[in-house]
Amino acid sequence: MRHTLGTTRIALIVILLFTAAALFAQQAPSGPQADAATPQVHGINPANMDTSVNPGDDFFRYANGAWLKRTEIPPDRAGVGVFTPLADLSNKRTAGIIEDAAKEESPAGSEARKIADLYHSYMDEPGIEKKGLAPIQAQLRKFAAIRNKRELARVFGENLRADVDPMNNTNYHTMHLFGMWVGPGFEDSEHYTPYLLQGGLALPEREFYLGSSPHMKEIQEKYQAHVARMMKLAGFSDPDARAARIIALEHRIAETHVSLADEQDVRKANNPWKQADFAAKAPGLDWKEYFRAAGLGKQDHFIVWQPSAFTGEAALVKSVPLQTWKDWLAYHFLEEYGGTLTKALVDERFAMFGQALTGTPQMRPRWQRGVFVVNGVMGDAVGKIYAKKYFSAQAKATMEAMVKNIIDAFRRRIDALDWMAPATKAEAKAKLGTLYVGVGYPEEWRDYSGLEIKPDDLFGNIWRSDLFDYHYQLGRLGSKVNKHEWSMTPQTVNAVNLPLQNALNFPAAILLPPFFDPEAPAAMNYGAIGAVIGHEISHTFDSEGAAFDSSGRLRNWWTPEDLQHFQKATKALVEQYDQYKPFPDLAINGKQTLAENVADVAGLAASHDGYRTSLDGKTAPVQDGFTGEQQFFLGFAQTWATKARDAALRAQIMTDSHSPGQYRADTVRNLDGWYKAFGIKPGTKLYLAPADRVQIW
Ligand SMILES: [Zn+2]
Repeated sequence: MRHTLGTTRIALIVILLFTAAALFAQQAPSGPQADAATPQVHGINPANMDTSVNPGDDFFRYANGAWLKRTEIPPDRAGVGVFTPLADLSNKRTAGIIEDAAKEESPAGSEARKIADLYHSYMDEPGIEKKGLAPIQAQLRKFAAIRNKRELARVFGENLRADVDPMNNTNYHTMHLFGMWVGPGFEDSEHYTPYLLQGGLALPEREFYLGSSPHMKEIQEKYQAHVARMMKLAGFSDPDARAARIIALEHRIAETHVSLADEQDVRKANNPWKQADFAAKAPGLDWKEYFRAAGLGKQDHFIVWQPSAFTGEAALVKSVPLQTWKDWLAYHFLEEYGGTLTKALVDERFAMFGQALTGTPQMRPRWQRGVFVVNGVMGDAVGKIYAKKYFSAQAKATMEAMVKNIIDAFRRRIDALDWMAPATKAEAKAKLGTLYVGVGYPEEWRDYSGLEIKPDDLFGNIWRSDLFDYHYQLGRLGSKVNKHEWSMTPQTVNAVNLPLQNALNFPAAILLPPFFDPEAPAAMNYGAIGAVIGHEISHTFDSEGAAFDSSGRLRNWWTPEDLQHFQKATKALVEQYDQYKPFPDLAINGKQTLAENVADVAGLAASHDGYRTSLDGKTAPVQDGFTGEQQFFLGFAQTWATKARDAALRAQIMTDSHSPGQYRADTVRNLDGWYKAFGIKPGTKLYLAPADRVQIW
């Protein structure tokens, strides 16, 4: 989030409910305005369905066909979903909070004043235009003055930021040479530990450089021209030649990178390196200088996520000429902060990262991008006000009751597993026992008193915020982990599982229709938000979460036989998703999306149990001719109504750990209950023989 600045940089998120929201969210026809989001329908929405479709052939279209037909993707979006109005609403509310802060004339240094000043600095387009590239000249001069590889290592170190998060929240992607995440240690989950990740690419993933499909070739051509234009806009001589060298270097970096599917395997990521190990394991970079400049000179232990990339990239630091690295530094810096500068740079970046990469014709209105920035820089300050204003104690209580019910269902499912050994069951249940479930908003808020915000210095504000965040993370190294800490703001329309804290977050902004509606029948609420709750709980036991024990430690708590059974079941799920082909030349990657698919299957099953328990033996009321069981599955499938531009969908398939909405809706084919509810017969496209239905938990 930190550097999106309203462009559509593709975020890579591991265990969130979905990533597409990052692409689809935040749009409204006009400026900030008052709230207006009362649901027209309480329960499933029959007006979204296409009942001419056989549910057994295409359940996604059966549940959402009419919505798909009538919904057009707005020109400033890469895609749209039924959850989009939630993001719009959260945005408008946030904009209102910012407006109020601006009106109040709060004292200098107060959070309200900082929120208002930050937003103002973003909206001050004439001021930004007038300054031109002056705000970044000092940095560009610094890069130009680098005389040798030692000084290069120093600058790399000074530019290290806490800009990746492979476990909880955001992404594996950084344009810096490497990225850092500070989180609970894999083997010592009680203390904050630095994780280092591969980096150095401006495009989202290695495949964008190495891929040879016609679509990839087209992107590569556009990218070449884009890099040259960025260098030209910044006043560099020979922009074409520089662009060619920069891209050749990125191509070589991409070759050293680990693929997204592989880097999601936490067991491969647990590589403890001491500081002294780097010189021997990854020669070529002056590591001593690097760590000193990064403020990590005294840090002895690190976890290196992709060792082969560190070895490869460090070797490139040595072998590639200094001037090429200096150009690479300047270009990456321009790309990272271009959104804070002139219209020419903002437009050029959007043409590449918005239009070419996601097919989105238009940029979002500036005020919406401003809201994005405020949420990225001071999300907790806004969230504190948001939670107070928009999340009721009653909604919190209702949600907490549902969570408890679904956790109980999960516990019963574990008890009923005939293949699992008692010891494994005991640890699985212990994990449920220590699970922290945050609903609505966090217990503690981030302190922004050390962050300097000026009303007329957008670049400086973002630059200082990145450093402020970095130093905050450095300051936590070695200290005790706060297991109740949130990794999402209350105004985020999403949900998350934090494996190393054994915790879940359900922000206030997702606890609204079509996910959650206190006035809707239980069938719809369990199918929609219930499946989300189940999804997040299931991450505790998915292909990744199963690697962590009840204290959040990376430890094998499985018997060999149990693990074998689990891996066999997950293998079947990989194969099921590998068969989905959204494009003739591009299939879903079952391995890359495995953890999310496991969570979808197990979460839906647990929520289904929870729903049946909630009925307490009674028959559910029929709505619009649909039984309670049918409403449950329809409620689920209707939360996955999504539509994306082809380029965006392709990018999602390549870079996202979540399957596209259509295939998530089809999760139902693994549950016996779905076959009964709709009378699904053999011979339909989604039909799976009972033995082929994947049931993991
Ligand atoms: Zn997930």
